[in-house]
Amino acid sequence: MVAEASLTPRHRPTVSFELMPPRRPEAAPKFWETARRLVAADPDFVSVTYGAGGGDRATARQVVATLLEGTPVLPIAHLTCVGASREDVSDVVDEFLEAGVRSFLALRGDPPRDQPDWRPPADGVHSSIELVALLREVEARRCAADPAAAVRGAARPLTVAVATFPDGNRQAGTTRAQEVQRLLEKQQAGASFAITQLFYAADSYTDFVAEARAAGVTIPILAGLMPTTEPRRLRRVEELTGVPAPRHLLAALDALPDPEAQHAYGTAYSVELAQRVLDAGAPGLHVYTFNKYRPALDLLEGVHLGGRTPHGVPDLARRPLVPGIPTEAPAV
Ligand SMILES: Cc1cc2nc3c(=O)[nH]c(=O)nc-3n(C[C@H](O)[C@H](O)[C@H](O)COP(=O)(O)OP(=O)(O)OC[C@H]3O[C@@H](n4cnc5c(N)ncnc54)[C@H](O)[C@@H]3O)c2cc1C
Repeated sequence: MVAEASLTPRHRPTVSFELMPPRRPEAAPKFWETARRLVAADPDFVSVTYGAGGGDRATARQVVATLLEGTPVLPIAHLTCVGASREDVSDVVDEFLEAGVRSFLALRGDPPRDQPDWRPPADGVHSSIELVALLREVEARRCAADPAAAVRGAARPLTVAVATFPDGNRQAGTTRAQEVQRLLEKQQAGASFAITQLFYAADSYTDFVAEARAAGVTIPILAGLMPTTEPRRLRRVEELTGVPAPRHLLAALDALPDPEAQHAYGTAYSVELAQRVLDAGAPGLHVYTFNKYRPALDLLEGVHLGGRTPHGVPDLARRPLVPGIPTEAPAV
């Protein structure tokens, strides 16, 4: 491992966070406080989720635009396509491009689980690979229609990241080997880098990367990690993603007397996991924050990748935040 003191910013692993747009107006002030704290840690980028049904379309766009205009951080907009028509997805892409967004995470999203007879629309965009192609198609259309846009596009090309699943994607019923092939196809479709689904064992990441490299995947594969501080969260994430939380970890967290003790234990657990994947050569850590800053920042402190800027806490309070929400955020 390289000693921390010798790590110049250029050689440090990357740090990034995932944020979820607030679902309700009342949640916005807390959300922006979280965003403010995370932005102050000077991450390489912050990614903003997008609901599979597109129900949070306006809020997601507003959050990405606010980060873009009001902070020094690079926002990456998640995009999903499942269940939407091609025209709808094109419109969403167009709106993000119009707002100046140049970085995307192209995802299929999951079909609704409570509708067994659900079928995707015939004119839909059916996979992340089709979405990567559509993103580039919409950009090409915009550039063809406006020579200035073409120059700007050439100067700031689109970056399209994709998701990848080290233990297979249980929601889609795929194995690791299938996801390695899928990642190769995503790369061939023009993906710039990949972010992994969360995992609980360093081998999940290192074995997957080794298999992907052997299969011809050359794009960076960023390790996605969740701070393991709350047993309730681990169980919920297992339900949503199909990634089983280790039983011994759940048992250990459940046995602790209070949230503070769980925080300490869970942070130590995720720090060890993060350190192992960094030592094995992971290019950086992408932290699934679930809109909580303390577990994310403590995890990074634990691997000596904590806040880099003593200054740089942007004032998000005076910006228009989320549609329908007053622009006043609480004093912090
Ligand atoms: C980092 C990350 C961020 C995420 N963010 C969000 C988010 O913001 N919003 C959200 O709703 N979900 C999000 N998800 C969840 C994601 O949408 C689901 O896990 C989804 O099941 C898989 O998405 P994908 O982009 O890999 O889909 P795809 O690459 O399209 O694959 C989905 C599955 O469909 C099958 N498939 C489809 N087309 C083909 C084909 N041509 N050939 C072979 N197989 C095919 C495969 O079985 C494949 O596993 C995220 C996941 C990760 C890891």
